[in-house]
Amino acid sequence: MIKENIENILKDLPPGVKIVAAAKERSVDEIREAISSGIKIIGENYINEARSKFEVIGKEVKWHFIGHLQKNKAKYAATIFNVVETLDSLELAEVLDRECWKINKIMPVFLEINSASEPQKQGILIEEAEGFLDKILRFKHLKPSGLMTMGPFSDNPEELRPFFKKTKNLFDKIKLNYGNILEWKYLSMGMSFSYQIAIEEGANIVRIGAAVFGPRKQKI
Ligand SMILES: *Cc1c(COP(=O)(O)O)cnc(C)c1O
Repeated sequence: MIKENIENILKDLPPGVKIVAAAKERSVDEIREAISSGIKIIGENYINEARSKFEVIGKEVKWHFIGHLQKNKAKYAATIFNVVETLDSLELAEVLDRECWKINKIMPVFLEINSASEPQKQGILIEEAEGFLDKILRFKHLKPSGLMTMGPFSDNPEELRPFFKKTKNLFDKIKLNYGNILEWKYLSMGMSFSYQIAIEEGANIVRIGAAVFGPRKQKI
């Protein structure tokens, strides 16, 4: 099942687009099956869950953090993850930089963009992104490398297209303005139901859960 799902996704994936298998609530066995079917990056939303999986799976894959990172968990994020896709505040940047400094690691980070300016959502507003970037450039153990966005909740993926477009425009603007000082490369957008549209709009990382592992069990 997982193997066929992954083969189907990989079959139509344009070159240069990477898949992050979003593995929240998935078991170590399911993740192992995904890895043996060609997945090279695992995405995790929760530090505790990631710690127990990382303990057994380790560095045979890359690990991307894709959830909301709490400052008191930054220490674990620093050791486990190859990329933190969800940098969303200056306070978090400060703490994560310090934890990475302690272990002598430079962490690639993406700015999480609140592309629909939703007041209840995490993330940096489009118009504040460059100001935010200016402030985090002083953190020598963080390496800003791209943007990530979720977009608003919708059951129609076409409704996400304008927010993917806006985020791509911001990505390009930052590349123009900061391309000489940053390796600005990654645009992480799109999930199971929206990744094709995200790729059309310029995503080069897609985060896919259900279409890799099957539907998540409904919580009662
Ligand atoms: C769960 C999750 C995904 C994947 O969602 P699916 O609908 O299962 O593909 C992508 N990004 C984030 C941040 C997630 O939490």
